[in-house]
Amino acid sequence: MAEYDYDLFVIGAGSGGVRASRVAASHGAKVAVAEEYRVGGTCVIRGCVPKKMLVYGSMFAEELGHAERFGWTVEGKSFDWPTLRDFVNRDVDRLEGLYGQTLDNHGVEVIPERATITGPHGIRLASGREVTAKVILVATGAHPTMPDFPGVEHCITSNEMFHLAEQPRCLMVVGGGYIALEFAGIFQALGSEVTVANRTDRILRGYDEQIVERMLHVAMGRGINFRMHSLIQKVEKADDGCLLVDSGETNPVKVDQVLIAIGRAPNTAGLGLETAGVDLGKHGAIKVDEYNRTSCESIYAVGDVTDRVQLTPVAIREGHAFADTVFGDNPRTIDYHAIPSAVFSQPPLAGVGLTESQARATYGNVKVYSSDFRPMKNIFSDHPERGLYKMIVDATSGKILGIHMVGPESAEVMQAAAVAVKAGLTKADFDATVAIHPTMAEELVLLK
Ligand code: NDP
Repeated sequence: MAEYDYDLFVIGAGSGGVRASRVAASHGAKVAVAEEYRVGGTCVIRGCVPKKMLVYGSMFAEELGHAERFGWTVEGKSFDWPTLRDFVNRDVDRLEGLYGQTLDNHGVEVIPERATITGPHGIRLASGREVTAKVILVATGAHPTMPDFPGVEHCITSNEMFHLAEQPRCLMVVGGGYIALEFAGIFQALGSEVTVANRTDRILRGYDEQIVERMLHVAMGRGINFRMHSLIQKVEKADDGCLLVDSGETNPVKVDQVLIAIGRAPNTAGLGLETAGVDLGKHGAIKVDEYNRTSCESIYAVGDVTDRVQLTPVAIREGHAFADTVFGDNPRTIDYHAIPSAVFSQPPLAGVGLTESQARATYGNVKVYSSDFRPMKNIFSDHPERGLYKMIVDATSGKILGIHMVGPESAEVMQAAAVAVKAGLTKADFDATVAIHPTMAEELVLLK
């Protein structure tokens, strides 16, 4: 008889957990994954994927606005939120099915229950069943952090944004990070009046300041209101169902919804990690070594629950590396250097490597090349918005330290540019590359 019920028991069927499960199974391990909510996790169910669909849905507003100039007559155009919402949720159902199928095809047992840890090899399921595993992987993700002010129960998080019964006429978004700027852009484009309330005057901290400044300028031009240095004191529900947001300023602001987007904290509470001696760090994140192993030899963790880089592709890589290391006889670590990322704001912005200020602080002698341009499509459409691309270069070696951009499709352009930064290419390599004309991306090889 086998010593344990499973070789690997994964808690959480999100991006990291699903990848780890199927790769471990393909290495021959007997794998089970427990999921208390829906297979797919944050990215597929209530994050990246449905968010991107909302972004696409909202972009028609601008496209339709420009269509007439190009000869199109669009009669009686109007927008219906429930149609978009239901379309998005149907697709999420479809994707959830596909994720389940993938696990099935790899012989991974999916247990639709909450699981908690009872010791280095022990797991208890919500049904009361106890199982054992040689190795346990915690991939439980993170949840939205909530502030503490009277009336916070009237506010919602990004989780609820995909299920709103009605489109808010007035939406307040609290926070200045990814989620805040993405939802602000979506609902402004869909016709809601949007206010972003941020606790400082810095939004999208970590991105190049000049690029963020440009995005802010464009977003304000599109009609998003920004309230900087704003901290909510309380939220009250009025008789008409509206919310009165008091930020200690003159009059409370009346809105239909308040979206809180002030970061996400690891899902470690109540998991029983202490029974196995798993050490936690800041914000309750599971501490792991470079091989994703916790302070308990038989327990590993990947993805947002470790609070290293809260990005889906990183969680997927961590899950894959874990499975190869532990079950594939191929020890692998993840290289966290030069991870590209993007914010699907409107316009989107993207970056890889060091920002200008980070590069100046680290290297001192840096050269900055940039292109401040009006995308051709905007010229045709008589649209004043400008894009901005920046390349930060080590003046001594010519090596590119970072590339940052804001403008249409910048996330798409960035993916290819990131390969060059990761590979350690120089500005001269970009100069030597012939432009594809006319594109926006050609600005990258024409930077001055
Ligand atoms: P972020 O960490 O991106 O931003 C949090 C924002 O909230 C910051 O502006 C921060 O300000 C502010 N804030 C933090 N604490 C408080 C507080 N107590 N009161 C008021 N404001 C506060 O968090 P998000 O929730 O937007 O996103 C969570 C994570 O999800 C991101 O870090 C990202 O990794 C991931 N994500 C990625 C996406 C993508 O790749 N496109 C899309 C969506 C999410 P300050 O800067 O001053 O700390």
